[in-house]
Amino acid sequence: MPISQQISNRQFSRLQTRLLLSYLLVIATILGVFSTAVYALVVRDRHQQLNASVHQMAGTSASTLEIIQHEYQELTTEDKYKGYIPRNADGSFVPISLFQLMGKYQADSMPTFVYNPLTPQRQAVEWFDSKKTLIVREGRLFPSESLPNTISPKGQLISQKSKSLRSFILPVYSTAKSGRSQLLGYVRATESTNLLNADLRRFRQGLIAGVAIVSGLVTMGGFWLTRESLKPILQSFEQLKQFTSDASHELRGPLTAIRASIAVMQSHPERVHPADVEKLKAIASASVQMSQLVDDLLLLARMDRQAPDLAAWRQIALDEILEDLVDLYSDRARETNISLQSQLIPNLEVYADAFQLSRLLTNLLTNALQYTPSGGSVTVSLQRRRTHALIRVEDTGIGIAPEQLPHIFDRFWRADQARSQHQGGSGLGLAIAKTIAQTHGGDIIVHSQLGQGSCFQVKIPLP
Ligand code: ADP
Repeated sequence: MPISQQISNRQFSRLQTRLLLSYLLVIATILGVFSTAVYALVVRDRHQQLNASVHQMAGTSASTLEIIQHEYQELTTEDKYKGYIPRNADGSFVPISLFQLMGKYQADSMPTFVYNPLTPQRQAVEWFDSKKTLIVREGRLFPSESLPNTISPKGQLISQKSKSLRSFILPVYSTAKSGRSQLLGYVRATESTNLLNADLRRFRQGLIAGVAIVSGLVTMGGFWLTRESLKPILQSFEQLKQFTSDASHELRGPLTAIRASIAVMQSHPERVHPADVEKLKAIASASVQMSQLVDDLLLLARMDRQAPDLAAWRQIALDEILEDLVDLYSDRARETNISLQSQLIPNLEVYADAFQLSRLLTNLLTNALQYTPSGGSVTVSLQRRRTHALIRVEDTGIGIAPEQLPHIFDRFWRADQARSQHQGGSGLGLAIAKTIAQTHGGDIIVHSQLGQGSCFQVKIPLP
């Protein structure tokens, strides 16, 4: 495949990659937002369920507080139960379980008035008296903290993250006959968040796996989609190149005939009517310009469509080519009062097509002379870099506006300023220079400041 065709294919594959990446970015954003929203909703819902569960446990256990306090009071005050409840070293009673509380009846099952549908591995209930002293508790998981100083009459939800526990503390009131409510004590219902965390972890893993699978499918789909959508563009691009190549080829024949006829007419001035001499000159000049344009187009079309003619490639001393060029254009520079200088290092060879390379450098040098006003300077330099030879063509000319820089290598593009200064240009010189540099595995970059000058840098890989 021709190198320049590879270049245009590279441009298309770059475009395809850009399209694919933009598409993936949009899909990834949608997937990310969607899965985060779903996850957040599920987390909120599960936490609400857990809160409702501890709330309900506390509410149900609250109704038993009065009976439990009554039974407990008997155990702590009546003589026959003395020593039934073990004491701490400071003399206070150790909290007992419901079974111990009801043990005084020697019942072998839980009395029916006591609510105990607990799952002991993950749920617990504690009953406190009005002074916040723990009297009875049931279950295995208990918060390490005692009750807070202030508790809202409607109850209070507390999370102990270090122990993965969620508790609800509910104050319990009795309605006295007088109608005034009196604080009986508190109930604290606790549930472990381990199960919820495990469920959420599983859900998260499922979601990540789902997103990964969808992303894979979307990437494959996106790849196929962008390739299909670019196919017609690639086809018309190829057709356009073919058309340019054919058209320039076909134009060449008639143009050569016109130029030959004009040359014949000019070689016999006695046969030309004196009034037509100037017209003939204008036709001759226009046909030369047109031939140049057709030649440029044909050269570009050939480089686009054909592999480089490697038979024409050989070791070339860049310093010699540049030296010859500077010599060739030194008269023109002198005529326009431009100082043309060169700073070349000797014996720097590259493997290239000599004709194409001098075409490239000629285009840059003539542009520099063209767009530099009288009194300015143009410097051509050659340096050796680690992997490539670096040629710089620097001028103190009109420069290029920053917004125009991205276009200067486009075919037929000319700055308005250039159009007004130099009528003869076609806007193909830099496009040809860039294509030649890329055909040789190198490139051209440009730095320029409007009104200050421009610097074109050509990189050609070392052999
Ligand atoms: P042409 O010189 O025939 O117009 P080119 O392709 O060589 O076409 O250059 C394209 C345009 O880039 C020019 O018309 C000009 O606007 C700008 N340009 C190129 N070289 C220079 C330079 N050395 N200084 C200022 N402008 C430049």
